[in-house]
Amino acid sequence: MEKRDELYAGKAKSVYRTDDPQRLILHFRDDTSAFDGKKKESLARKGMVNNKFNAFIMEKLQAAGIPTHFETLLSDDECVVKNLEMLPVECVVRNVAAGGLVRRLGVEEGQALTPPTFELFLKDDANGDPMINESLAETFGWATPEQLATMKALTFQVNDVLKQLFLDGDMLLVDYKLEFGLFDGQVTLGDEFSPDGCRLWDANTREKMDKDRFRQGLGGVIEAYEEVGRRIGITF
Ligand code: 5GP
Repeated sequence: MEKRDELYAGKAKSVYRTDDPQRLILHFRDDTSAFDGKKKESLARKGMVNNKFNAFIMEKLQAAGIPTHFETLLSDDECVVKNLEMLPVECVVRNVAAGGLVRRLGVEEGQALTPPTFELFLKDDANGDPMINESLAETFGWATPEQLATMKALTFQVNDVLKQLFLDGDMLLVDYKLEFGLFDGQVTLGDEFSPDGCRLWDANTREKMDKDRFRQGLGGVIEAYEEVGRRIGITF
């Protein structure tokens, strides 16, 4: 497979075309950002850690029957994925109250959420990724009702697989964000799953082991990501 020109540069990943129009290369960079790109830093080893973390999780999800765009690792910080037509919607599931939910509703951080919640956000940095719902998504053509139903079902299926995977490593999967796209018309998991887009707490101490360490200036960001990986069996 031949790497061609850059198609798109996101905040932490760059996407390259290949000689196969159906395949793209994702390059995980060391760049880290938060607050819709307002806080930025380069963290050594982050690209490598997130690339390997994402590959491990995507393979677990694929093995559980969840269609993902992931194909193969290409190098320490690159992988090959299917070229999806992305839907501009972020799906968030929460098992424990934290972050935006606490800010929005004033509920107590750390409260268990039973059943877990499901929220939709529009992928729109300029407007701070506003919260949306199924009706708005249908009206504005961001996703059809059928696509939304599939995304919701898949996002909860991911929860079943990953909640247990992290619990086996003594961690709580507090919440996470997924993005989907279409490949041959099929709703397929895209983007990435890494500690950049989820919250993970140590199950005993509730220490934060995810991107909140960066957002809140707690330090030890990549060390925490590597510890999460080590606990679930990833070797970096
Ligand atoms: P919250 O709504 O609490 O800010 O985010 C909920 C979950 O989704 C968190 O795990 C957070 O990391 C993830 N998330 C939400 N929006 C984004 C985003 O734009 N980028 C990334 N990397 N993660 C996001």
